Amino acid sequence: MDVTVIGGGVSGLGAALTLARRGHDVTVIERDHTPMPMSADEAFDWDRRGAPQVRHSHAFLGRLRQLLLSDHPDIYADLLAEGATEIRFGDDLPPEMTDFEPQPDDDELVMLACRRTTFEWVVRRTAVAEGRVALRTGVAVDGLLAAPLDTAGTARPVVTGVRLSDGTEILTDLVVIASGRRAAVAEWMDAIGSPALVEQAEDTGIVYFSRFYRLLDGMDHPPRSGVIGGDLGYLKYGVFVGDNRTFSVTLAVPSDDTELRRRLGDAAAFDCAAQELVATAPWFDGRAEPLSPTVYVMAGLLNRWRDYVVDGEPLVERLIPVGDAVLCTNPLYGRGCSTAFWAAHLLADALDAHPADVVAAAIEYDGALRSEIQPWYRASVEQDGEARRVAASLLAGADPDSDADDPRTFMRGVFRDGLLPSLRTDAVVLRAFMRSFNLLATPDALAKDPDVTARILAVWQDRANRSPALALGPRHRDDFVELLPA
Ligand SMILES: Cc1cc2nc3c(=O)[nH]c(=O)nc-3n(C[C@H](O)[C@H](O)[C@H](O)COP(=O)(O)OP(=O)(O)OC[C@H]3O[C@@H](n4cnc5c(N)ncnc54)[C@H](O)[C@@H]3O)c2cc1C
Repeated sequence: MDVTVIGGGVSGLGAALTLARRGHDVTVIERDHTPMPMSADEAFDWDRRGAPQVRHSHAFLGRLRQLLLSDHPDIYADLLAEGATEIRFGDDLPPEMTDFEPQPDDDELVMLACRRTTFEWVVRRTAVAEGRVALRTGVAVDGLLAAPLDTAGTARPVVTGVRLSDGTEILTDLVVIASGRRAAVAEWMDAIGSPALVEQAEDTGIVYFSRFYRLLDGMDHPPRSGVIGGDLGYLKYGVFVGDNRTFSVTLAVPSDDTELRRRLGDAAAFDCAAQELVATAPWFDGRAEPLSPTVYVMAGLLNRWRDYVVDGEPLVERLIPVGDAVLCTNPLYGRGCSTAFWAAHLLADALDAHPADVVAAAIEYDGALRSEIQPWYRASVEQDGEARRVAASLLAGADPDSDADDPRTFMRGVFRDGLLPSLRTDAVVLRAFMRSFNLLATPDALAKDPDVTARILAVWQDRANRSPALALGPRHRDDFVELLPA
């Protein structure tokens, strides 16, 4: 088929490359004017205003790495050659964990450490070199072309191409919408007579603040056997290793906390905050320098699911979404690029299974998205609802655990005094947790494993005999705020 992909981000490039390697001819239309960089550092300076999240910390999970290894090993090798590194389960374990025995599946439990711009640059470079992928940048898609409803022979619109901002049109067999979280796709569909595109959307309740740094010559990163982030209720945070001796810190603040939002946008206050947090402090002892003068801020972060297929029928024919255009999850869980690539592969599989029937392929793809990826969306929504409740309670100066009869209080206790300590002492629990975290097991796999839950509950029951867990930063929000320059 001749396929046009709207958007040259991770999902658009992932879909383009995967479809091209299955024999389709693909044109990618990317609105940002982004000439190809020559290096990872040039890519970091890309003007990617269409995807502002590229300058925030990104984790690349085991699921994504597995897809690269199986279908695009050249990309994986190039990423490593361009300075990305692997974070392998089993390396850098906490010293308290003495029961670790390598298992065959552990080879899948590897995350890729690199900047999002480096990842996208390498994927783009490979896609362009593929031969079957044409990339046009600096021109936007303005709308969809469709056969008139009365001539299409179906009750729903059939897409025939796209209209570009330079006034030209591209006729195509299939349009893949990969235009990201702010895609105007609902309006485009409406304009060609589609039923309304229905979505579920919930605010994640957080605002992201990120800053990037590079280790100075002769300096190394701190030991990585310690914690790499924390959830203080009023603040979630983490340190992310990047490529080429870079790293980034992300602080996620409740959307309603205007005071913290105001302060942390300032670079000096941001660095001061990072110095006060247990997991980031070791990176701020003079071993690194900032890569950019500012702190990058991103709000409006949603969990969102869009139904392009309703009651088993596509709303529009020959129009298929991938990536954030169909589902977004809280960036804190680091899933978006993995689910984007995963969806691109599910799409390619569905088209392989129905080479002569795009409607059947769209329906099969939708079913695969719902069975394999939607559970991760639901898990994000559930987890964020609870996180928002806790953050609101702390901001109001209340105790989120004051109601001992509330099952959520019990669950928070098991998480805090059972799961978290187990992750530092029990390799079986850590492995089960990391398999879910890396999208290699279902979201509920850990809770459904009787051995793992028994181990966690045993640690929880023993909580009175342990000294309290190390605080990962100031326990009280007001104390933290006071540490920051006004
Ligand atoms: C703050 C933040 C942190 C994140 N952290 C992580 C993480 O740690 N790990 C992870 O895996 N994921 C993370 N994500 C999610 C991840 O970035 C997204 O899921 C991923 O970028 C989705 O890729 P996409 O291609 O669908 O969208 P995008 O990458 O946003 O790309 C969409 C592209 O479409 C282009 N476009 C839009 N409209 C048009 C048009 N009309 N015509 C032509 N082009 C158009 C845009 O310019 C853009 O380049 C994070 C997201 C955010 C917001």
